[in-house]
Amino acid sequence: KADMAMYKAKEQGRSSYHFFDHEMEQSMNDKMQLENGIRRALENKQFFLVYQPKVCPNTGATIGFEALVRWEHHEIGLIPPARFIPLAEASGMILDIDMWVFREACRQSKKWQERGFPLLPVAINLSAKHFDQRNLVENIVDILRDTRIDPHLVVIEITESVFIRQMESVIEMLSELQALGIEISIDDFGTGYSSLSQLQRLPVSIVKLDRTFIKDAEHDERKSAVVRAVIELAHSMGLRVVAEGIETEEERTFFAGLHCDELQGYYFSKPLRSEQFERYIRSEMRSLPFQRRGAEA
Ligand code: C2E
Ligand code: MG
Ligand code: MG
Ligand code: MG
Repeated sequence: KADMAMYKAKEQGRSSYHFFDHEMEQSMNDKMQLENGIRRALENKQFFLVYQPKVCPNTGATIGFEALVRWEHHEIGLIPPARFIPLAEASGMILDIDMWVFREACRQSKKWQERGFPLLPVAINLSAKHFDQRNLVENIVDILRDTRIDPHLVVIEITESVFIRQMESVIEMLSELQALGIEISIDDFGTGYSSLSQLQRLPVSIVKLDRTFIKDAEHDERKSAVVRAVIELAHSMGLRVVAEGIETEEERTFFAGLHCDELQGYYFSKPLRSEQFERYIRSEMRSLPFQRRGAEA
């Protein structure tokens, strides 16, 4: 891609060559700075987690939550994952980031459980890069042991990009994780190359429909037909279905009506810092005692 830009710039003459050259150099510098920054951020504890509720479609009660990483850079401020995750994946730093996230999410969950919060599964995102590695399962076993979290209260979210990897070893690793009690969820479903039938090859129990499926589905007949078929097929395969990116009351009603098992999105709550998430759960424990007991029974 860079070569193409260079080639085009050359074609257009020397002045534009210099222009492109300089811009590319600048973006290379930015990249390297960001990469070095990521390394330092891990050492200097500039990463933190936010938590977004997953709710019961009928009662709105929280039935789980997802941990999402945030980077607070001392000069730049908050850097969104969309900006640094791709770089971290390219440089391999994602392996360390994700293991830090995994440990921190388990530590925080266990702490909440010990303080009498409801027993909510925590979902943690893992880059597909981990599945090129041999020691993923070992690392996770260490974290489970150190934090003493019940593996049945841990969900791993991976994207369809695991399908372009060494499938035998992906299946083996996911099976080992599942045998520990961890649930596997396919994130952003519908944006990648896989189909539901391919999911049958993996020890997966949850699919998360991507927001692109959710947006305007209730007004778009073709989209809603596809979504309905996907949800029905997923259910017939024994998979639970999560709709992510629910932003409006209409979307909530529509996807609850299609019997999604869990809903997640700004309509219920944005991802919250740990203190805010605590407050969210506490106020819910006061206002929804009946539904909560019902949900846990
Ligand atoms: P994701 O795992 O699919 O997470 C959902 C993203 O959608 C989050 O963005 C969340 O804040 C956002 N979201 C939630 N509800 C709504 C909604 O109603 N509307 C819209 N438009 N967006 C909503 P975020 O936190 O910026 O994360 C973006 C992506 O970065 C994640 O997508 C995930 O792929 C990646 N990511 C985040 N944390 C981690 C991590 O710890 N490890 C890895 N490997 N990836 C992570
Ligand atoms: Mg996710
Ligand atoms: Mg997603
Ligand atoms: Mg995503």
